[in-house]
Amino acid sequence: MARVEFKNVVKEYHDEKRGTFTAVADSNFVIQDKEFVVFVGPSGCGKTTSLRMIAGLERQSSGDIVIGDRIVNQLHPKDRDIAMVFQDYALYPHMTIKENLSFGLKNLKRPKEEIEKKVMDASNILGLSEMLDRRPRELSGGQRQRVAVGRAIVRDPQVFLFDEPLSNLDAKLRIQMRVELAELHKRLGATIVYVTHDQVEAMTLGERIVVMNKGRVQQIASPSVLYNQPQNMFVAGFIGSPAMNFMDARIANGKAHVEGAAFELSEDMIKALKAYEGKEVIMGIRPENIYGEDFAEKMSISKVNSMQTSVQVIENLGAETLLYFRIGARMVTARVNPETDVRIGQMMNFVFDRNKMHFFDPATEERIV
Ligand code: ATP
Repeated sequence: MARVEFKNVVKEYHDEKRGTFTAVADSNFVIQDKEFVVFVGPSGCGKTTSLRMIAGLERQSSGDIVIGDRIVNQLHPKDRDIAMVFQDYALYPHMTIKENLSFGLKNLKRPKEEIEKKVMDASNILGLSEMLDRRPRELSGGQRQRVAVGRAIVRDPQVFLFDEPLSNLDAKLRIQMRVELAELHKRLGATIVYVTHDQVEAMTLGERIVVMNKGRVQQIASPSVLYNQPQNMFVAGFIGSPAMNFMDARIANGKAHVEGAAFELSEDMIKALKAYEGKEVIMGIRPENIYGEDFAEKMSISKVNSMQTSVQVIENLGAETLLYFRIGARMVTARVNPETDVRIGQMMNFVFDRNKMHFFDPATEERIV
């Protein structure tokens, strides 16, 4: 069983400038056997530190880390039965690919036949068989990345740890490697913990995602739950691109009043927002849930919640067009059909999907509904 568990794990660093700095604050989660879990969050949120603590490259200040059925707090990295793939691949430049792949097993003094078989199996899985006699500099970035993964596979670990493994690749190759990693996970049936700052990468790879910010776990959930039911404004704004729009609103008489419009609430929203009657809240809606009037009509989406306003900026991205307009001081983005015929300054009726509106408490930033 290759589950990984954090129990009240804290990591503090001490330095002269910041004094005691909490990089990871009271972190609790369970990664199930064979699960692909992604740690995601902005730079400095503590995701790499969390991964390095699983690996044993960093020692937690308090709390327990469990791998399989063992508390591994005292165990040296090499005894934790994990394999880590680093961002810079860390290949040995003077060794051939075959030697790079065999190196770890040779160190463990495994029998020659076993090494040979494991290296062959891993190269077949990763499409490296033709390049075993080459050196790393003779490979492309994507191929080097595969060798780094291969080196982890031959060790047959309980848990694979990936630290931003795709960040040195160009955009196209990154997408290709993403698909390969997802397939590899299915094939190996292994537990994978994967760190990235890229929310798209997290959403496409993770069966579950741990969203972190400032050393704290914000939410642990599947991609669709993160997208549809974000725990708070941080998660709502971090997951999804372009980001969710936020606007100041006041709840009164079954409506959310924003500058220039009043939006009707659904029954569920009215119930959930009862305690906020007459009060300020933050309303959130994703750009893809604001439509042009024609589109709303075509899709039979209720136009009860719409506002007439002028288009400030237009970004044509080919497959979609982003339109920007103002509500009060905030710029709001709508992602619309690229065929929408519109000019800057033109008045347009934007339809807000009533069922896709979210509301947040302005003090706690937690989602109310
Ligand atoms: P990035 O995407 O930039 O790598 P991250 O989410 O992986 O960010 P960590 O590397 O885990 O972030 O760092 C979390 C915090 O801990 C940061 O504020 C960082 O400056 C601090 N930190 C990390 N390592 C050390 C260290 N050895 N000494 C002091 N502070 C550290």
